[in-house]
Amino acid sequence: ADTLLEVRDLCKHFDVKQGLLGRGGAKVRAVDGVSFWIREGETLGLVGESGCGKSTTGKMILRLTDPTSGTINWRGRQIEKLPQGQMRAFRRELQAVFQDPYSSLNPRMRAAEIVAEPLRNFESLGRKEIGERVAALFDRVGLRPDQLVKYPHEFSGGQRQRLGIARALSVQPKLIVCDEPVSALDVSVQAQVINLLIDLQEEFGLSYLFVAHDLAVVEHISHRVAVMYLGKMVEIAPKREIFAAPRHPYTEALLSAVPVPDPTVERKRIILKGDVPSPMKPPSGCRFHTRCPYAEARCKVEEPVLREIEPGHLVACHLR
Ligand code: SF4
Ligand code: MG
Repeated sequence: ADTLLEVRDLCKHFDVKQGLLGRGGAKVRAVDGVSFWIREGETLGLVGESGCGKSTTGKMILRLTDPTSGTINWRGRQIEKLPQGQMRAFRRELQAVFQDPYSSLNPRMRAAEIVAEPLRNFESLGRKEIGERVAALFDRVGLRPDQLVKYPHEFSGGQRQRLGIARALSVQPKLIVCDEPVSALDVSVQAQVINLLIDLQEEFGLSYLFVAHDLAVVEHISHRVAVMYLGKMVEIAPKREIFAAPRHPYTEALLSAVPVPDPTVERKRIILKGDVPSPMKPPSGCRFHTRCPYAEARCKVEEPVLREIEPGHLVACHLR
């Protein structure tokens, strides 16, 4: 399949004021040289602990925040510096579903209006046509016709997420950035929403960047998985390789936290020591060295580069 999105060396650095009087600045390297691609019809799971830069990466792709440097190639065009006015055509192709639909859905708008809004922005349709499209979208995402006139607070968490999906879907996007869309939901509801996303992907040929903080959530939906740690990409590989044979110690650690459904399968247990260091002062060399059970002397001074160790399997670790 064709490459839809290609991101190269993407960085987002923030200046933050520190101290009581706001004196003294620090730079937060929220995203620090991230590269990946997404093909048509594919889901890339993007995983890492909170604060690793995964949401910021999604926001840069959506152009909700400007990259400090790096390139974003969308279907053959560089969009990282496109003025917002020229983003219009891409806006419709790149949609988003966020973790908290309650804060991303206007609480004073009825559900039908929420789904109709992007349609009005991007298409010139009559009232009747919009009504029909919205009703069909409702049906497609599993909402009932009587819910068209309801307000977001009258929906359950899972239904609100369906509403957010219907809105994203209304303008026939090619890629949907799903930023922790199921993290706030009960496990049983999570599975329903993920299955809906998978069905929609098959039906419409959609691609997803699916952001989550744990590997278990992305296992079912992803074709490939990318793992981030403190603003860096540490591993990218086809899903089955990430789960069967992770090569980066951090991926191994994340995986050892995932319950194994088959009790005969042994999985190496790695318990991470300590907390994630501050992105304001990332450790030298390999940023993971303060928590890595395999760290060696050079890990403190030399930064490992992300390199391909097998076709399509990239790892940033000196030991691989
Ligand atoms: Fe661990 Fe060193 Fe590999 Fe970093 S480079 S993950 S510290 S072994
Ligand atoms: Mg986040």
